[in-house]
Amino acid sequence: MAPVVAALDVPSASRSLDAVCEAMAASIEELTHADQPIGDGDHGITIGRGFRAAQKAIAALPPDADLGQLLDSIGMAMLTSMGGASGAIYGTLFRRGARALRGRAHLDADAFAVFLEDGLAGVRERGGASVGDKTLVDALQPAAEAARRLAGGSLSAALAAAAEGAGEGLERTRDMRATIGRARALGDLAIGHLDPGALSFTLMLRAWSRSVSG
Ligand code: ADP
Ligand code: MG
Repeated sequence: MAPVVAALDVPSASRSLDAVCEAMAASIEELTHADQPIGDGDHGITIGRGFRAAQKAIAALPPDADLGQLLDSIGMAMLTSMGGASGAIYGTLFRRGARALRGRAHLDADAFAVFLEDGLAGVRERGGASVGDKTLVDALQPAAEAARRLAGGSLSAALAAAAEGAGEGLERTRDMRATIGRARALGDLAIGHLDPGALSFTLMLRAWSRSVSG
């Protein structure tokens, strides 16, 4: 059985996110393939660039950084490196998700739920997407709901539940028509394909869950 991890201090959370960045850099090809049929094929490259920049930002953090600073520095790195729709979306997710976590010294299940909930609110404001529009929100919202349900328990259980929720939301995007973003122009042709942003978000949570419990 995977070990139960109640919470991580900021240096350990930084290491777990560094491992996430490595995993995302290894997912470039899978994301490129996902974005080719319904987008312009750049999502893998964009994600690779963003998470490499995030990795540098994590390495450059001062030793006394708090959880909010850690997550905000990742968001800043993404905003300034990625470009495209996903740069604004991921940057907003991390920066808004970080805001209420200023001063916190631990990533526990509650902090993780706050990160996803506030990040979701920011992404929805910024991009205007709701569940059903075939975007990253289709994976993010069920992930945030699952994390909130498990916010009183261990970080490792909340991460696993959020990753599972994201994966279920991701699968639901397959049968959707896109009503927002680049794939909107495709109409019915988008049906049968996963949304690339929902896929990258799900891969990110799975990698994070593995890096904490594995
Ligand atoms: P671009 O569409 O500019 O080429 P990417 O290919 O990197 O950017 O990312 C595409 C992904 O961004 C989509 O699959 C979708 O999940 C996400 N996305 C696009 N627009 C929005 C939006 N308004 N809200 C949330 N996510 C969005
Ligand atoms: Mg694209």
